[in-house]
Amino acid sequence: IIEINHLKKNFGENEVLKDISTTVNKGQVLSIIGASGSGKSTFLRCINLLEKPTGGQILYKGENVLEKGYSLPKYRTHLGMVFQSFNLFANMDVLENCMTGQTTVLNRKPEEAKKIALENLKNVGMEQFVSAKPAQLSGGQMQRVAIARALSMNPDVLLFDEPTSALDPEMIGEVLKTIQDLAETGLTMVIVTHEMSFAKDVSDRVIFMDQGVIAEQGTPEEIFDHPKEVRTREFLHRIR
Ligand code: ATP
Ligand code: MG
Repeated sequence: IIEINHLKKNFGENEVLKDISTTVNKGQVLSIIGASGSGKSTFLRCINLLEKPTGGQILYKGENVLEKGYSLPKYRTHLGMVFQSFNLFANMDVLENCMTGQTTVLNRKPEEAKKIALENLKNVGMEQFVSAKPAQLSGGQMQRVAIARALSMNPDVLLFDEPTSALDPEMIGEVLKTIQDLAETGLTMVIVTHEMSFAKDVSDRVIFMDQGVIAEQGTPEEIFDHPKEVRTREFLHRIR
């Protein structure tokens, strides 16, 4: 559904992404692992064009989204993003958080937006918190609302940047379970994570990034059980 060819990103002199090529297949879960600073977030932010790539191609359903004339606002509505720090609107309650993008960006009527928001809040087990403000929720609950908000926009692809790394340990499980349930519905997802056993269970394919390149990519079995590259083995050894 998304094909990335020779993607490059520099910040000044710093080459953060060097010639990244991969595909995100419809209905599959792609996980990205790698050391801090290897470029994982930058890669994710280039996919949804929160960062403008320095070079290369991003094809969405075969069309190059970096071409002049391609509608970026439209492209972005096809992609959902869940951040490490939730990024909920603090002044809105849970239901409003899940409705606002629908009414403002997708021009849905409030009744329709509400119905869709409630469905998604139910799917993440947050339907009893519709009137709560973010500050009244735990981190795990906030992240589940953020997931419901992203889902309410009906994205073709959902991107997650370390969705559990800001959470207290006892809340990580509920968020991972929510993501795992979504994976089973056939939603296309790209997940940057430090949770290796989760990545192994949930992924169809895993990318290991090292210093701005894809050092190795393959099935979870290939990457976690039989890594070919020394760099992959060393990384897995360090964090296990
Ligand atoms: P982490 O696991 O710590 O989140 P990461 O793999 O997500 O790391 P990135 O955040 O993509 O790594 O950062 C990769 C490199 O790009 C780092 O050297 C960082 O300093 C640099 N970088 C990221 N964003 C910017 C920016 N907006 N301006 C300048 N440099 C940046
Ligand atoms: Mg990061």
